[in-house]
Amino acid sequence: MTDRHAIDVATPLLAWFDRHGRKNLPWQHDISPYRVWVSEIMLQQTQVATVIPYYERFMARFPTVAALAAASEDEVLHHWTGLGYYSRARNLHRAAQQVVTGHGGIFPSTVEALVELPGVGRSTAGAIAAIAGGQRAPILDGNVKRVLARFHAVAGYPGETAVQKQLWSYAEAHTPAERVGDYTQAIMDLGATLCTRTRPACPICPLAAQCEAKRLDAVADYPGRKPRKALPVRATQLLMLRNHWGQILLQRRPSAGGIWAGLWLFPEVPSGEDVVAFCATRLGIDAIERERWPLYRHTFSHYHLDITPVVLDARGVRHRVTEPDSLWYDPEQPAEIGLAAPVVRLLEQLQRDAALI
Ligand code: SF4
Repeated sequence: MTDRHAIDVATPLLAWFDRHGRKNLPWQHDISPYRVWVSEIMLQQTQVATVIPYYERFMARFPTVAALAAASEDEVLHHWTGLGYYSRARNLHRAAQQVVTGHGGIFPSTVEALVELPGVGRSTAGAIAAIAGGQRAPILDGNVKRVLARFHAVAGYPGETAVQKQLWSYAEAHTPAERVGDYTQAIMDLGATLCTRTRPACPICPLAAQCEAKRLDAVADYPGRKPRKALPVRATQLLMLRNHWGQILLQRRPSAGGIWAGLWLFPEVPSGEDVVAFCATRLGIDAIERERWPLYRHTFSHYHLDITPVVLDARGVRHRVTEPDSLWYDPEQPAEIGLAAPVVRLLEQLQRDAALI
C-alpha cells in the first residue's frame, strides 16, 4: 500500500490556483502579517463575501496594529457588530495591545510567536506565517479539514483528537517549500469553491485523480459528522424600555467572560420574573408594559436561549441612569458601541413597527 503522505498535492493545486484561484480579495493586496491576521480572524466563522465590507471598514479605521491597540474596546466591537462570535474581536484587540507592548509594535511572523497571541491557534498562525512570511507552515482550517478528510478518506469527526492528528500529519506532508503562500491560499480556495460542504464539484477538481473519497464513491461520508447531543434550553426576557424621546435603555455586559462580554444589550430578566417590578426596583424606572413579542430562539454552540422580547414605556425616571454601563441608545443617532446580535435584530423590528404606525 502506498503511503498517501507522499502524494504530490501542491503541483496540481498550484496549477489550478494559477488559472482559477481568487487573487483580488482585499487582504491579498499590500500583504503584511497584520492584514493577513485580521482577515484570518474574520474568516474563521464567516464567509468571504460577508467579510469583505467589514474588513475594508476595519482596515480604514485601524490601518495598523498600533491604531487597533489604541482604540477603545467599544469601538472595536462596534466595527464587529453583525459579524458574530465577538470573542474574536476582543481577542484581536487584546492581541494588538500585546504586540505593541511585547513586540515593540512589530507584528510577529513566526508560528511560535504567533500562537502566543490571544485567539491565534496553530492553523491561523500557519496561515499568517505562510502567506505573509513565506514560511513552510501548514494550516488546517475548516475548509482544509474537509478537503483532506475527503482526499484521504479519513474517517471520524475532525474535532476528535486522533482524527485531527491524522489530518495535521497530511497537512504537514503536503505543504511545499516553494510558493507556500499561494499553496495556502489555494487549498483554502479549493475548500471554499470546489470541495464545498454540499455538492462538491469533483468533475472539475484538480485533485480528483487521487481523491480517495471520490474513488470510493463516498464523498458525502467525509468528513465525519459531529456526534449529536441535545443542547440545554434557557429562557429569558429582554426589556426594550423606551423613554419619551424614543431612546432605548442598553446595558454593557462585563468585559470578562459570558457570551456577550463587552457588548451592549437590553436589560435581561429571568423568565417568569415581573418585568415592571424589575424596572422599578433594579433600574429606578416606572414603566408600563406595552406588548410581548413572540418567543424566538437564539442558539449558541452550547445551549439554546429562548428569548421573549418585552416592549415597555418608561413613564418616569426616578433617578437618572448615569452609570458608565448604561445608556439611552438613540437609533436615529447610534452611538459607536458593539451591539449583541439580539439587539441588532430587535431594534430593526422596533423601527419597522414604528414606521408602520
Ligand atoms: S475530488 Fe471531490 S471530494 Fe475529492 S477533493 Fe476534489 S472536490 Fe473534494
